[in-house]
Amino acid sequence: MLLEAKNVSKAFGSFLAVSGADLTVDEGEIIGLIGPNGAGKSTFFNCLAGDTLPTTGRVVFDGKDVTRASPEAHARAGIGRTFQVPATFEDMTVLENVMVGAFLRHPHRNDARDHARRIVELTGLRPDQSGRSLGTPGRKRLGIAQVLATEPRLLLLDESLAGLTPTEVQEAIALVRRVHQTGVTIVIVEHIMDVIMTLTKRVLVFNQGHVIASGTPEQVVRQDAVIEAYLGRAHRRPPPGSPPQAGAS
Ligand code: ADP
Ligand code: MG
Repeated sequence: MLLEAKNVSKAFGSFLAVSGADLTVDEGEIIGLIGPNGAGKSTFFNCLAGDTLPTTGRVVFDGKDVTRASPEAHARAGIGRTFQVPATFEDMTVLENVMVGAFLRHPHRNDARDHARRIVELTGLRPDQSGRSLGTPGRKRLGIAQVLATEPRLLLLDESLAGLTPTEVQEAIALVRRVHQTGVTIVIVEHIMDVIMTLTKRVLVFNQGHVIASGTPEQVVRQDAVIEAYLGRAHRRPPPGSPPQAGAS
């Protein structure tokens, strides 16, 4: 087991953004995390990546308790995450942006540059382009490149595909697959169900801070609780014997 999060909660005052969430991740998996806005997905990622201290519970990565470790210690241990809103250094080139991540394991400038170059190639970005000139898809890609440069064993992707055109989504799926093929384990938060169905074999559904369902994507999309909380009636299968539906609502 690569990661085990047990009974993780995060309170903001009296409000529980995450409530008793469990997650185990085996090496080599791609796991999907879905649920409505405000369900606690990003906060849960924050707890896993050391960006926030959970109120309860613990996070064990590769056999070590990292619950109270700093974000940098998490990165060093091999947990990398993207942010929903990517942080791009506007005045730096794509390559320099990626070097920021590469310095974690390559303290010498030339090594960091060589490593960053390989990552930029993998992500299909132009190394000399300025951060400022990137649009949303470029920034998302750069966010992924920056975290890949830290050489994570576990990559947490937080809506990295949101706001992309269908073509860009397909490119991003191909990128996630390439990254996975290099041996990186992935947990992905994503609203586009096709992406979840395509990429993952196991899904957790968050609602109001709780994990309300888990299983294969095919299993969870059929569960009433998931349909009520998240998917809406478009995904509800008609009961046996009912006439075909004209349109989903
Ligand atoms: P998701 O990523 O599933 O959309 P979030 O984890 O971002 O959900 O948010 C879960 C809930 O916690 C939301 O109601 C949000 O407003 C609240 N929340 C998140 N961060 C904070 C914070 N720093 N302080 C107070 N409330 C927060
Ligand atoms: Mg979020």
